[in-house]
Amino acid sequence: MPPPPDHEGRSRMDASAPRNDVIVQDLEGDRWLVTLQGEHDVSTAAAVRAQLEAIFRTGTAVVVDLSKTSFIDSSVLAVLIDANTLTEEHEGKRFGLVVAPDTPPERLLRLVGLLRRLDVFRSVEEALAEFDDDDVVSLRRWKDRKQRIIKNEQAFRDYNNRRLEAEDVAPTDTEELLPFVCECGDEDCIETLAVTAAQFVEAHGAPNLFLVKPGHVYPDVERVVAEQPTYAIVEKYADLLRGTEEATS
Ligand SMILES: [Zn+2]
Repeated sequence: MPPPPDHEGRSRMDASAPRNDVIVQDLEGDRWLVTLQGEHDVSTAAAVRAQLEAIFRTGTAVVVDLSKTSFIDSSVLAVLIDANTLTEEHEGKRFGLVVAPDTPPERLLRLVGLLRRLDVFRSVEEALAEFDDDDVVSLRRWKDRKQRIIKNEQAFRDYNNRRLEAEDVAPTDTEELLPFVCECGDEDCIETLAVTAAQFVEAHGAPNLFLVKPGHVYPDVERVVAEQPTYAIVEKYADLLRGTEEATS
């Protein structure tokens, strides 16, 4: 399993980075860079897909860098094709690939005729320049979006806390499943999940922990610390939480 998205992604782009890694970087202007290091096949395809889906829930442009990729198989290819299809169906979303000449990913993409079908670039800089919408408000929009996500999550967390207080159940109860709302940052998410009081309390062991449905994760503001079939616990990056407090006080 590759590690969750790295908030300090840039500093990890060095020789000591682990092999077969998926490095996610959140860039200004709703642009994301996903670097696939090493070999990627059916053992990492699901993780790559989950990352791309999470990004596309909010991000506008995604560049997948295959220049440091030594191998991809057809399962990863399918993930890339699906990501591209998704952007074709949603106006405003962009998807690009960085492929170095004469590498195994380039040979595979050429073989199956995808080099012409996908937006392929020779370097990350070239791809990001193409996806730079040159919008002066994009940086502010990018910051506003993060704050909005966190405020949403905080509001749902507060709501759930009041719900639990209203229930006639001990906070240590491990039997009765109680319905709570998903605490994800999507203001349109009205999904519910069921956990016991004890699980609810454990999921909120620190102020920066939130209880969400699996997959309802925003990798630019949080990382998954625990995942169960019916719920996940995400941890908000501390610097962002501080920003919210300052903004609201
Ligand atoms: Zn949700």
